Amino acid sequence: MELLLKNANIVTDKENYISDIYIADGIIKKIEKNIEIPNIKTIDIEGKYLIPGGIDVHTHFNIDVGIAKSVDDFYTGTVAAACGGTTTIIDHMGFGPKGCSLHHQLEKYHEFAEKNAVIDYSFHGVIQHIDNEILNEIDSMISDGIPSFKGYMTYDYKLSDKDMLKLSYKLSSSGGLLTVHPENNDIIDYLKNKFAAEGKLSPKYHRESRPSRCEGEAVNRMADITSVTDCPLYIVHLSCEEGLNHIKEAKDKGQKIFAETCPQYLVLDESCYSLPENEGLKYICSPPIREKHHQEKLWEGIREGYIQTVATDHCSFSFSEQKLMGKDDFRKCPNGLPGVETRVALMFSEGVSKGRIDINKFVEVVSTNPAKLFGIYPQKGCIAAGSDADLVVIDPKIRKKITKGELHENTDYTPFENIEIIGCPVMTISRGEIIVKDNKFIGQKGRGKFLKRKPFSY
Ligand SMILES: [Zn+2]
Repeated sequence: MELLLKNANIVTDKENYISDIYIADGIIKKIEKNIEIPNIKTIDIEGKYLIPGGIDVHTHFNIDVGIAKSVDDFYTGTVAAACGGTTTIIDHMGFGPKGCSLHHQLEKYHEFAEKNAVIDYSFHGVIQHIDNEILNEIDSMISDGIPSFKGYMTYDYKLSDKDMLKLSYKLSSSGGLLTVHPENNDIIDYLKNKFAAEGKLSPKYHRESRPSRCEGEAVNRMADITSVTDCPLYIVHLSCEEGLNHIKEAKDKGQKIFAETCPQYLVLDESCYSLPENEGLKYICSPPIREKHHQEKLWEGIREGYIQTVATDHCSFSFSEQKLMGKDDFRKCPNGLPGVETRVALMFSEGVSKGRIDINKFVEVVSTNPAKLFGIYPQKGCIAAGSDADLVVIDPKIRKKITKGELHENTDYTPFENIEIIGCPVMTISRGEIIVKDNKFIGQKGRGKFLKRKPFSY
């Protein structure tokens, strides 16, 4: 299959220029002005930006959180991703049976994705417990293409500081990357019980039971633990100034510390938890949506290079059947938000169109840095001869409001309803194939391929 894009305004993390781009066999073959090849599919995209396809390194498809199962699987989730300008996802594997091996979950996730995913994909390993068997299995996971592993500091499978230390020693000597959900579990536990005893069970007490200091404390603790072991550390879904300050401090001292934030922390604020008619439940996620002043700090963190990636933590539940389980008690509401489809548009609109970041920084955080950090660069995350032809066309002039009716996520709401967008993706190309045009998915189910990722070497 061949494709010629004419007059593209090509944007990478470093430069912008106008050129034609010739694609064959799924690969970018040539980037030059005035390429003429008769009798192949040719599209003129003058006036539009061409960026490397979005890479979302934090999704949860098919996940069972105990009280509910998320509603997007690897088909609906990746169709939504593709429609929103994302051509690669790295999913966080969910927890398996107690005591299971790392490969147990890997095999299960291969099965989930194989015949369903419509874009290329990989997984992060999930660490449920630490013992010698798990530590010994890490090398074979890395050689099977999984170099990043997530540890939780809260929830049922939280790891102790000692476990984190053992894990980070192992990863630092094996080419692995430790990714962490940082929240101080004791604070959360205490506050939740306290609020429950006082009958404070509305959605805003979800936020109050997880204060930003409790995220900051956990970020700081992990930064110190990994400084002992010299292990690269990646903080997932950073939501607050306190956490960012600890990251700055560690990075300025020369530590290998990286951070991800998500659109919900950049554009929404805590007022969402006080919406009428139980709507506050729609926004229950962890860490919670913060007070407004954190937003500007996070944008600043992106501009200054302390936050390298913007992912989504997409974990979708239906409002009417699942989120509403928490209407009398926030603790019964499954945690998570949809967002895999709206990330690129929100980052372009809120970031570039509103002048908070330049367009190269936008490409860097939605595509290039995720590819580099997670071992798929330069196959993905760049526009260069020899790279996969994963490309997204953005029309900077489109103005519209985000509305659930136009999205493909398998939920009955979007937390970003009614936000006005200036500029958004209008075409998605995955390995040279146009799979989304005019907000319609036109590719084949199961066409996505597993990406065997390289060990950490950022
Ligand atoms: Zn997550």
